[in-house]
Amino acid sequence: MQRIYTVGPAAIYPSVENHMRAFMAEQLGSVSHRSDAFRELYAATIHQVKTLLNIPAEYEIYMAGSASEIWERILLNTVDQFSHHLVYGDFSKRFYHYATALDKKPSMQEVPWGKSFSSEDVIIPDQTELIGICQNETSTGASIQLDLIYNLRKRYPDTLLAIDIVSAVPYVNLNYSMVDMAFFSAQKGFGLPTGLGIWIVSPRAIERASALRRKGKMMGAHHTIEQFHQNYKKGEVPSTPNMLAIYLLGKIASDMNEYGIERIRKETDCKAAILDKAIEDSALLKHFVKSSTDRSKTTIVAEVWDARVLSTLQRDYIVLSNGYGMYKDQHIRIGNFPAKSIDDMTHLAEALKSIG
Ligand SMILES: *Cc1c(COP(=O)(O)O)cnc(C)c1O
Repeated sequence: MQRIYTVGPAAIYPSVENHMRAFMAEQLGSVSHRSDAFRELYAATIHQVKTLLNIPAEYEIYMAGSASEIWERILLNTVDQFSHHLVYGDFSKRFYHYATALDKKPSMQEVPWGKSFSSEDVIIPDQTELIGICQNETSTGASIQLDLIYNLRKRYPDTLLAIDIVSAVPYVNLNYSMVDMAFFSAQKGFGLPTGLGIWIVSPRAIERASALRRKGKMMGAHHTIEQFHQNYKKGEVPSTPNMLAIYLLGKIASDMNEYGIERIRKETDCKAAILDKAIEDSALLKHFVKSSTDRSKTTIVAEVWDARVLSTLQRDYIVLSNGYGMYKDQHIRIGNFPAKSIDDMTHLAEALKSIG
């Protein structure tokens, strides 16, 4: 068996296989999404995710196909013209590009890849309706301090904040009451199979969507916030959803609740420290994110001067991610998610040591 340490699609959480069997045994794949069985399943998933991430009761959680789909829904539903984006890698930049493609008038502030932002440097144009922030930049291994996000909330109380936490959950301890929307997909921190986007939406964002519709704004035909909201009140979703993924998300969130989110966070820190040391001790690797405060704990990116590192590891059945985009052959990326144990990380650190 290969040992998988990719950043996404990432290693599957160990209990997923058994939950999949239970899903089949209970014939849940054939359940109607207008039935009590579905409403129960959806409610259970929402309950477990809200408990795990400490999401305020009045926030709603919608299910989409992917996180990138949610970029588009956020822009269509809550921005008339002006979104502003903090860009420090490919994912944060793509959110900005979606806004351009949708004919909005977005603005952005950019720092070099491998770096992050500090509060003092962030300037938001006056007309901004929504600030898009990718909290953990999977392409570079840099991340944004939560204080920066809270600080923006205080400085710009009327501006919506939409936070991409795709490769940060469930580790990131975000105070959701300080943001209007947050979103992630299944295949990274939760260690689930691909194909589900999870969209956390505040009452204020729902109001903003209604106000935009009343103005006659085009919000797309597929799954508007208002459609989600109307269905959510009945415990339902607008159209036939990815039942298996919603089921598995609830089961894994429940397993994580049982294991303890604090324990998951502590272990993540501990595993990140093991990797940090392995990179620092290695003659072949160097941290791409130089500042340790900017460095992600969940997606660790190292520069490699010998592109054979990945293939050498592969011979030992260890699979990492290559670099993103232009860094394809110059970086390795390691996913430090709950599916990986401390033993797994120690094993990887030893393997890195053995190749230099
Ligand atoms: C993977 C990723 C996305 C895109 O998620 P999809 O589910 O593939 O659409 C967006 N943002 C970040 C930070 C990511 O890591």
